[in-house]
Amino acid sequence: MITTYRVMLISALLFCLMPNSGHALVILQYHHIATDTPFSTSTKPEIFAAHLEHLAQSGFKVVALSEHLAQSKAGDAEANALEVAITFDDAYRSIFTEAFPLLRARGWPFTIFVATDLVGRPGGRYLAWDELKAMKAEGAEIANHSTGHQHWARKPSNTTNDAWSDEFVQDALRAQETLDAHLGVGPKHYALPYGEYYPALVTQLQAEGFLVFGQHSGAVSMPLPPVIPRYPMGGPYAGLDSFKTKVLTLAFPGAPSLHNPILTGLETKPMINATALGLTRVTGLNCFGPDGAIEPKAENRAIVIQATAPLKPGRARYNCTRLSNEPGRFYWHSYFWMKQHSDNTWYEEP
Ligand SMILES: [Zn+2]
Repeated sequence: MITTYRVMLISALLFCLMPNSGHALVILQYHHIATDTPFSTSTKPEIFAAHLEHLAQSGFKVVALSEHLAQSKAGDAEANALEVAITFDDAYRSIFTEAFPLLRARGWPFTIFVATDLVGRPGGRYLAWDELKAMKAEGAEIANHSTGHQHWARKPSNTTNDAWSDEFVQDALRAQETLDAHLGVGPKHYALPYGEYYPALVTQLQAEGFLVFGQHSGAVSMPLPPVIPRYPMGGPYAGLDSFKTKVLTLAFPGAPSLHNPILTGLETKPMINATALGLTRVTGLNCFGPDGAIEPKAENRAIVIQATAPLKPGRARYNCTRLSNEPGRFYWHSYFWMKQHSDNTWYEEP
């Protein structure tokens, strides 16, 4: 009996000492694997190959998204494992010509989030259904990225919230039906076009049984956050050094809540309470906004993060990291923002 108590006590103590008792999935988000496409959404084929080689050499397990997330829900995922999932958005053709041969050679799964109206468009820029089918046969998961890659967070002023949410969800369901009709029933995974949302859109999708993915950086916490983070891997974010840091990141121990990312009118310095990440002190917490470092502040038992320089119209993020007890492994979470112009009109796409 005493031995049993002793084992329980030691287990409890070890649990408390663990830097993170959740899991440590990192999801990578690519668009084009090409040299002749827009810089910000492109990863050069040789850099993509270097990413894969690093994962292989460093003992990472590349996991299928749906399988891993199902395990995580059941609590079977290994804590602090080196696990990465690879995703591609928008159904660009270079996924088939450049990325697929490399992934197939390694026998690694991956996910393509498809905006269904783009598939098979003339001009050769997008994948064809046959190509998606061929990749699915070799372990790819094909998931939902809307029908037409719309800006769903931009609710027209002459539409009610309910009507717009309904239109959004119907669009997601239509895209899902199209995917299922062409490829067989797939996972109910939805990547938000441009990573844009407001809370009601996310909760409506969840109510339809979807897991919702964004495009803000961070490791995946458990239980799953309302918008699951993915590290963008295009343009300036494709470099191998930052890749090596990101794939090792851990989720903060807390549960990120669903915040409203839309900044209207003169609102330019959004304040976020980061206490939900499981933080009890600001020591060691490093945060950055688009214009540089943000000093986290402890206020009334809350940890508050607020940019000192105004956010400019467009998408922005606050990135927060803290070194864990494991060498070279940072906790990483980011907060996503969508800053409108001061007259409440929307920014142009770059
Ligand atoms: Zn997209």
